[in-house]
Amino acid sequence: MISIALSKGRILDETLPLLKAAGIVASENPDTSRKLIIATSRRDVRLIIVRATDVPTYVQYGAADLGIAGGDVLAEHGGSGLYQPLDLKLARCRLMVAVRRGFDYEQAVRQGARLRVATKYLQTAREHFAAKGVHVDLIKLYGSMELAPLTGLADAIVDLVSTGNTLQANDLIAVEEVAQISARLIINQAAFKLKRAVIQPVLDALTRAVK
Ligand code: AMP
Repeated sequence: MISIALSKGRILDETLPLLKAAGIVASENPDTSRKLIIATSRRDVRLIIVRATDVPTYVQYGAADLGIAGGDVLAEHGGSGLYQPLDLKLARCRLMVAVRRGFDYEQAVRQGARLRVATKYLQTAREHFAAKGVHVDLIKLYGSMELAPLTGLADAIVDLVSTGNTLQANDLIAVEEVAQISARLIINQAAFKLKRAVIQPVLDALTRAVK
């Protein structure tokens, strides 16, 4: 038996057709079901539904053998104990620095100002600004980061941008790309060795489905 950790929402919507192409069909719709462990058309494969940020943790500790997680979540987690063999090219978006329209980000950076940056992605943001030599005070938020520059909590945010509609609706503009993001398949390193006979064909089928 192998378990695949998935999260509800954007990634799940795009993942289910991919799993189907690999011969794995959920026995009920994880988006509407209240079940957290869902059987599939394959007796030896089950789905475990967890929060997006918890997917790497379940796989790292072997509570799930495989998982599908966003690159943003993986960067924050650090990837310890995980193989990341396949970019699924799903849920694509960009992690961006954004500021209030009218705030001169370039000028602030040039002047060496100490910027206050609100984000869910502390680790990734810290590395990004350190690499640029920009001094920042990071403020951890758990959601609605767009509010931070509008209320004076922060000068800038680091957040995911897909269509750009959310930024536009809140009078914010993206000023810098931090990373390009997409969902990736992750595999517990020990499980990949011990259950290779089951996992390798699933990996091969997903690789074909992505292509
Ligand atoms: P958009 O308005 O299409 O640019 O989407 C931006 C909002 O959706 C922000 O609140 C983001 O945090 C969130 N978002 C965008 N892309 C993703 C993604 N791939 N996964 C999770 N959240 C996302």
